[in-house]
Amino acid sequence: MDIFKALEEYDYEQLVFMQDKETGLKAVTCIHDTTLGPGLGGTRYWTYENEEDAVIDALRLAKGMTYKNAASGLPIGGAKTVILKDPENQINREALFRAFGRFVEGLNGRYITAADVGTGETEMDHVYQETNYVAGTGLKPGTSGNPSPSTAHGVYVGMKAAVKKAFGTDSLNGRTILLEGAGKVGLTVAKKALKEGARVIATDIFDGPQQRAKEIGCEIVEPDELFSIQADIYAPCALGASINDESLKKMEKAGIKVIAGAANNQLAENRHGDKLDEMGIVYAPDYILNAGGVIQVADEFNGGYNAERARKSVDNIYNQIEKVFNIADRDGIPTYLAADKLAEERIAAIRKTKSVYVRDGKSILNR
Ligand code: NAD
Repeated sequence: MDIFKALEEYDYEQLVFMQDKETGLKAVTCIHDTTLGPGLGGTRYWTYENEEDAVIDALRLAKGMTYKNAASGLPIGGAKTVILKDPENQINREALFRAFGRFVEGLNGRYITAADVGTGETEMDHVYQETNYVAGTGLKPGTSGNPSPSTAHGVYVGMKAAVKKAFGTDSLNGRTILLEGAGKVGLTVAKKALKEGARVIATDIFDGPQQRAKEIGCEIVEPDELFSIQADIYAPCALGASINDESLKKMEKAGIKVIAGAANNQLAENRHGDKLDEMGIVYAPDYILNAGGVIQVADEFNGGYNAERARKSVDNIYNQIEKVFNIADRDGIPTYLAADKLAEERIAAIRKTKSVYVRDGKSILNR
């Protein structure tokens, strides 16, 4: 892999390799862009086929965080860490994550970490023993806890904004929603939509989530039956790439007019976003819609988490989605590209202010 060429491609600022033989730590932190503030992004603890795959994942995820954080209006940049998990190697988890915490401390605030796939509150508690540049630890005063309810609330308000674009009113009353994935986020979105008078048809690959969805009032179908029902809204809340050639054909038949869900990377390829535009389906871009979790986590740095303030900020996802639609209309582009533009325009505007000299710049870290 030609590392500097890869860094140049999307103008990555910094790629940090961390190794500690004693604890078995092998980690890569990628800081993509800190124009808006310190780079914030979770730490993924994952087994990779090879080291190159780990680096590519760190690069891809860090850039994704820059766009998500920028488009959410947060004063933070984008970064991400992957720690290479060796299933053969017996590690001491506390030692490994404390060693990692010391490296994070060494970055002196350019990077703030949090939980991601394979890590949770316990790991962040270990990291917190060594650095304050961590969110989502249960030990820190002003911590914010599980981000899923905030993510779900953002998906719900963003869905309403998308429904308004498609139908002229943002009410979900009487709308039929096809919910894919009745997990932590999907189930909460369903509850909110049901409360507003929507009909929710839910599916999941496991019985437990199906059962829980049924208990709150959803109708249940098997995953391959989801699009056999005529509906207004498709809410992908399972895994990525669910908008693809095959599902688009089914959505057309099902009469879907809006796509709004929590899953990351919903478009299998960008051309599927173009296709949605041609089909006249209102697509609420995933990373704007599912930013509630990171908005909550970032609020911890405003002198400790404040639920009311964070909720207001999550409510703002409604406006952010409207901004995306306005950019799409203004420039005649699909909404997934308009989302990128929203992020890029904000970063460009703030970058210009950086030409004004200050000796020690202020950031979210010294509020
Ligand atoms: P979760 O694991 O609690 O729920 C996902 C559910 O989807 C599970 O019940 C799983 O069985 C189901 N599922 C998996 N494949 C499926 C398929 N093919 N068809 C139907 N159901 C399927 O996860 P979550 O926290 O609710 O997150 C949902 C999505 O939102 C994920 O893609 C996640 O990356 C994304 N997301 C979550 C958050 C958060 O705060 N939790 C934040 C941003 C993005």
